[in-house]
Amino acid sequence: MSDPSCIFCRIVSGEIPAKKIYEDEQIIAFHDLEPQAPLHILITPKEHIPDLPHVKVEQEELLGKMLLVGSRLAEGEGVKGYRIVANTRSQGGQTVFHLHFHLLGGRQMTWPPG
Ligand code: AMP
Ligand code: ZN
Repeated sequence: MSDPSCIFCRIVSGEIPAKKIYEDEQIIAFHDLEPQAPLHILITPKEHIPDLPHVKVEQEELLGKMLLVGSRLAEGEGVKGYRIVANTRSQGGQTVFHLHFHLLGGRQMTWPPG
């Protein structure tokens, strides 16, 4: 359920502070420490799931909820457009191995990302 060596598990438990902007029984969302856009929020499950391929079929509702929370937060922040993305494994740019979606907005996004 929780990994004491995982930085996001420690944010979930309150051991490490974060600028939380959303929380329910399954999910938390907080501002990224090193924002890559004027709006940069991380949406993460409270349960320690390392990455997308570790999500079980019975957790599909959780994934859907994370995306919907991200979209609602972006709309609430009033950005004109935004991107929600999950870097997956090292080659996908993932550095924290606790599943999360990045919500980026507030500037023109470019494609493809680096
Ligand atoms: P990724 O590289 O896709 O795994 O994303 C990890 C993100 O977590 C990066 O954008 C980091 O800036 C962010 N991050 C790492 N530690 C913290 C922290 N303590 N509080 C908030 N964001 C963090
Ligand atoms: Zn974790």
